[in-house]
Amino acid sequence: MKKTLTYVKLILSVFLFLIFIKGEKVSAEGNETKIYTAEDMQKLIEDPSGDYILMNDIDMKGIEWKSVDFTGNFDGNNHALLNLTVRSTSGSTRTTYDGNYKTYDTSFAGLFGVLENASVKNLTLMGVDVQIQTDQPCFIGSIAGFLEGSDIENCKIVGYLRLDVATKMFGVGGIVGYGGNGSIKETSADVTLICVDHDRENRDEQFMGGAYSAGFLDVDHCYIKIDGYDSDHGYVHDGGLVGMYILYPLGNNYAGYINNTRVEGMITFFEDNTDRRAYCKDFIGEVMNWTYEYVGNSSDFTRNEIKDYSKDLQPHYCEGNSYDSEVFEGNCESFGFTGYTCKECGEYAFKTNYTLKNHNIQSWETIEEATYEKQGLEKGICSDCGEEVYRIIPVKEEEVIEEVEEEIKPEETVVVKEVTVKKEEKGDKTMEIVMIVGLIISLALIGAIVWALLKGRQKR
Ligand SMILES: [Zn+2]
Ligand SMILES: [Zn+2]
Repeated sequence: MKKTLTYVKLILSVFLFLIFIKGEKVSAEGNETKIYTAEDMQKLIEDPSGDYILMNDIDMKGIEWKSVDFTGNFDGNNHALLNLTVRSTSGSTRTTYDGNYKTYDTSFAGLFGVLENASVKNLTLMGVDVQIQTDQPCFIGSIAGFLEGSDIENCKIVGYLRLDVATKMFGVGGIVGYGGNGSIKETSADVTLICVDHDRENRDEQFMGGAYSAGFLDVDHCYIKIDGYDSDHGYVHDGGLVGMYILYPLGNNYAGYINNTRVEGMITFFEDNTDRRAYCKDFIGEVMNWTYEYVGNSSDFTRNEIKDYSKDLQPHYCEGNSYDSEVFEGNCESFGFTGYTCKECGEYAFKTNYTLKNHNIQSWETIEEATYEKQGLEKGICSDCGEEVYRIIPVKEEEVIEEVEEEIKPEETVVVKEVTVKKEEKGDKTMEIVMIVGLIISLALIGAIVWALLKGRQKR
C-alpha cells in the first residue's frame, strides 16, 4: 500500500508541476496590450480595465482625446504622448468635499478622468493641453482629474491646463486634480496652470497645486515647476505643490508623506472676497490634516498676490496676438517643437506643436506584412542611439505606384495586434505539447500503479 501512495504522490506532483509552469508562463510573458499608434490609444476607451504598454512615442496632434475613466495599468515604457489635447470631462462623477466637508458631485478631465485602483508609470506627456469650460463642479489634471487607490511613478509632464468655470467647487492640478489614497513618485511637472472663476456672485472654493490641487496623495522625489494664474471671487487654496491637504475619503486615518521634493515657480492670484483667507504657499496652501511626514523638501517660490480684480489673470496681456515663430527639429534625445515669441513685447514666449524625435534609421524590418485589408508593421533601429521605432506599412492598394508609397510611409506610424496574437498562439501550442507530454507521463504512471497493484495481489 505504501508503494501505491508513493505513485499517487508522484502523479499529483506531475500535475502540480504542469499547473505551476502554466501559471509561470502567463505572468512571465506579460499580457499588456501593445500600443504603437494614436489609433491604438482608442483601445483604452474600449477596455479601460486592461494593461497597456507604449511601444512608440506617439503624436496625438489633431485628436481630441476623451478623458477615460481607467482601472488598469498603463506603462509608458519610457515613451511619450505628444500634444495630447483634452476638451471635455469623462462624464462620470465622484464626491469631493471642501475644507468645511461640504460635498459636491464633481466631474473630471485629463488623460484619465477618474483613475481608480490603477497605475501609470514611465510615461512622458509632452505638450499636454487640457482646457475645460463648465458650470459644474470640476477638477482637472494632466494625468488624472481624480485619483483614488492609484499610483503614478516615473512620469514627466510638460503642459498647459486651463479651467474656466462658473460654479462653486473646482481646481487645477499639474499632475492630478483631486486625489485620495495613492501616490506620485519620481515624477516631474513643468506646467502652466490657469483657473478663471467667471461667477462673481458666489463665494466658491477654488484649488490649485503644481502636483495636485486638493486631497491626500503621498509625494516622493518629485520636481515641480509651476507658473500659475488664479482669478477667484471666493476662497483661494493655492500651493506650489498642493492647494489643500485634506484626508480623503473622510474617516481615513492614514498618515501620509511629502518627501524629497522640490518646487519652483510662481502663482499669480487674486482673491476677491471680503472674508479673506488667500491661502497661497510654496508647498501646501491650506493644511487640513497635519498627520504627515515632511522631509528633504526645498523650494524657490513666489506668492504673487494681485489686488486688482477687474481683469482675469493670465500669462500674457498683449492684444496684438502676433508672434514670431521658429521651428526646432528634434534629434535622438529631444523632441522638436515650435517656439513662439510675442512681437509686441518681445518677452512672452512659449513652445507648442511638439514633434517626434529624429532618429537615424537605415533600414526597416518587416514585423507584419501589409495585406489588401490590413496595415502592416515594421521596426527600425536607430544607428546612432539604438532606439527601436515602429511604423505602419499602409494597406496594399490594387495598383501600387512605388514612389507614392515611399512618400506616404514616413508620415504614418505603426499598429497591429496580430503580432501579439500570433505569439500567444505559438505560446499556446507549446503549452498544448507540454500538457500532452504530461498526460502521457501521468497515464504511464497510472499504468505502473495498476501493474504494481496487480503484481502485489498475485504475490499474495
Ligand atoms: Zn507680449
Ligand atoms: Zn536615435
